[in-house]
Amino acid sequence: MLSVSEAQALILAESRSFGTEKISLEKSFGRVLAQDVRADRDYPPFNRSMMDGFAIVAEQFSAQCEFHVRGTVFPGDEKSLAHGLSRGPANAIKIMTGAPVPAGFDAVIRKEDAVTDGENVRFTIASAGLWQAISRQGEDLRKDDALPLIGRTIDNSTASLLASLGIVRPQVAKLPKISIISTGNEIISPAKKPRPTQIRNANTTALCAQLAGFGIHRVTTAHAADDRAKLRRLVSSRAHSDILLLTGGVSAGDTDYVPEVLSELKYHCAFHKVLIKPGKPLWFGHKGKTVVFAIPGNPFSCQVIFKVFIEPYLRACFGMHALPALRLPLAEQRVKKDALEHYFPVRISKATEEDESSPLSALPFNGSGDVRAALYSDGIARQAADAAVIDAGAVTDFFPWRAL
Ligand code: AMP
Ligand code: MG
Repeated sequence: MLSVSEAQALILAESRSFGTEKISLEKSFGRVLAQDVRADRDYPPFNRSMMDGFAIVAEQFSAQCEFHVRGTVFPGDEKSLAHGLSRGPANAIKIMTGAPVPAGFDAVIRKEDAVTDGENVRFTIASAGLWQAISRQGEDLRKDDALPLIGRTIDNSTASLLASLGIVRPQVAKLPKISIISTGNEIISPAKKPRPTQIRNANTTALCAQLAGFGIHRVTTAHAADDRAKLRRLVSSRAHSDILLLTGGVSAGDTDYVPEVLSELKYHCAFHKVLIKPGKPLWFGHKGKTVVFAIPGNPFSCQVIFKVFIEPYLRACFGMHALPALRLPLAEQRVKKDALEHYFPVRISKATEEDESSPLSALPFNGSGDVRAALYSDGIARQAADAAVIDAGAVTDFFPWRAL
């Protein structure tokens, strides 16, 4: 049976771009950039006052000197860019935060350090430094400077920059066509009233929630009973998908038809079963451009499989860098008896006075069918296949549900 990292390598080997497209900036949040950008002009585009105060010439400053206030500049004023305002001896210009510093002036003294007297102003500070309280033209970016952004998610930081640079139709990675097929005679829609032995479908919704983290909101969903012919028809009808996600029916039960149906339909099986807990029966394969993850049905297994296998696959397809695990100490000892790589739900505890290390706490749950297994967790931690014990306080690999 494959180790987790061997299985991940086979999955990553199937990653591919789904193409790129230009979309409007307002609709791009959560999407992944497929372009680098260039500065269309200097940033700041002019010497910009960082304070409300007075622009002066630094070398004319002396502690008791009175300056004559010769005018006022507001943000957006264009006249001050030229020599429209007099730089003569001991002239000052009243200036607002964000306003262009008039040509020839090279220091701003904040209002709080100024005493005005009619048309005059003097300052209560001992010295004024050259370019004090001025953001200089081009200090952030020079016109045509390149910023590498391919593979970055459009979040607040990128959206702010794209808007600043006027990139209103960014080029982003196209989204894959994804189909989800849940299976199981006992599984019903969450909207239906269950019979005593029926179970509401948690996995389709959980997978959609995890896909939404990649900006993927349109997913085709369907449900198949544990019926070979019906399952085959449904899987065939999804052959146009880039990614097909099946849940349930992939283990060793008498009605677990998923692996044989996939092989009847000539999907190439890259692997079936991985040394992982939960999620050991995972099946992965492909045919043409379609890759298939057939995920075991327990709700916690399904969430872990997405995190451990599907998320790295999507990241690679979108040109994002691989996420390294975060490393944090686990508060309590954890012991396991098998040779599987374990993933278990953890919460980051608040640092206390005595302990500032923010250790991870494992959350108790009743196995991977527990509907609350992942609830209140911030992510999952890993116990390596060959690590029978994680000592209390030992640093552990941690994968937050939301990629950082
Ligand atoms: P299976 O992988 O089909 O053997 O299912 C394993 C367990 O997960 C069974 O208890 C199923 O009832 C449950 N299960 C399967 N699919 C789902 C689903 N979509 N939502 C919630 N539970 C499921
Ligand atoms: Mg089943």
